[in-house]
Amino acid sequence: MQYAENILGTIGNTPMVKINKLTAELPCLVLAKYETFNPGNSVKDRMALQMIEDAEKSGLLKPGGTIIEGTSGNTGMGLALAAIMKGYKMICVISDKQSKEKIDILKAMGSEVHVCPTDVEPDDPRSYYSTARRLGEEIPNAWYVNQYDNLSNTKAHYKSTGPEIWEQTEGKVTHFVVGVGTGGTISGVGRYLKEQNPDVKVWGVDAYGSVFKKYKETGIFDKNEIYPYQVEGIGEDILPKNVDFDVIDGFTKVTDKDAAVYTRRLAKEEGMFLGNSAGAAIKGVLQLKEHFGPDDVVVVLFHDHGSRYVGKIFNDEWMKQQGWL
Ligand code: PMP
Repeated sequence: MQYAENILGTIGNTPMVKINKLTAELPCLVLAKYETFNPGNSVKDRMALQMIEDAEKSGLLKPGGTIIEGTSGNTGMGLALAAIMKGYKMICVISDKQSKEKIDILKAMGSEVHVCPTDVEPDDPRSYYSTARRLGEEIPNAWYVNQYDNLSNTKAHYKSTGPEIWEQTEGKVTHFVVGVGTGGTISGVGRYLKEQNPDVKVWGVDAYGSVFKKYKETGIFDKNEIYPYQVEGIGEDILPKNVDFDVIDGFTKVTDKDAAVYTRRLAKEEGMFLGNSAGAAIKGVLQLKEHFGPDDVVVVLFHDHGSRYVGKIFNDEWMKQQGWL
């Protein structure tokens, strides 16, 4: 008989799938690391479990404790799954930009959800960063996860996602392209791949309204780069400790409109029903076209599932309101 001991045993070992129509103009093979096959429908299950297990080992998270995190939904889902199986209480603090589906899903998974305003500075007491930190201090026996600075996030991808990509491509991967939020995915996978082959190039996909690209290119944290944007999951107005700029060769920025349009194209042209950052990632690959040759194997990682975006990206009325349809 083949079965997992519980749902947490199904995390990881996701498939790799070739992109066909959308990348027809490129000279190279483009493969998607398809992370919606995780039980929480996103890559974040991997790092959620790693962060919890490391906190248990270090004594930060004690039996019967409360896990608190500021999350755009996917990390919350991963943490909620693990919290259920391991007997912890879960509180998610989320910004009001996030889709309603994500909030409802977290509640369905037994999490308490606090919604905070998006358009405030990160150090404003109303921001979701500050609120999560404050709840972590106020609630007894609570552990504030802090996926931005918690290096177990990068470790999860160094230990699992990176080796899987290396093995699935039989060491032939030449480029890795991925959206960057906390930086855990790009830093963990990027470090692992570069250790196997220092010639592998690692590209981050950033949002207009985020600080990463300018910081990588100039070393300057420019507050003028920061303004509200629509694409969910990528870009930041802070520099998380999990972003290891040394393993990143460069960034490309994708517009909100392109991210939305390409998310819809992935569904209609490739049969891939994915989240908003997948559209940004594949558009990022197309923007980087001059870097790829005929022998290259480009791996792009798709973070989460389309079901969380049916009220927005996959809703024609919402797209028309944005002027994108
Ligand atoms: N896409 C989505 C949908 C996400 O939830 C996240 C996580 N914020 C990312 C991309 C970026 O991944 P990472 O945090 O590992 O940089």
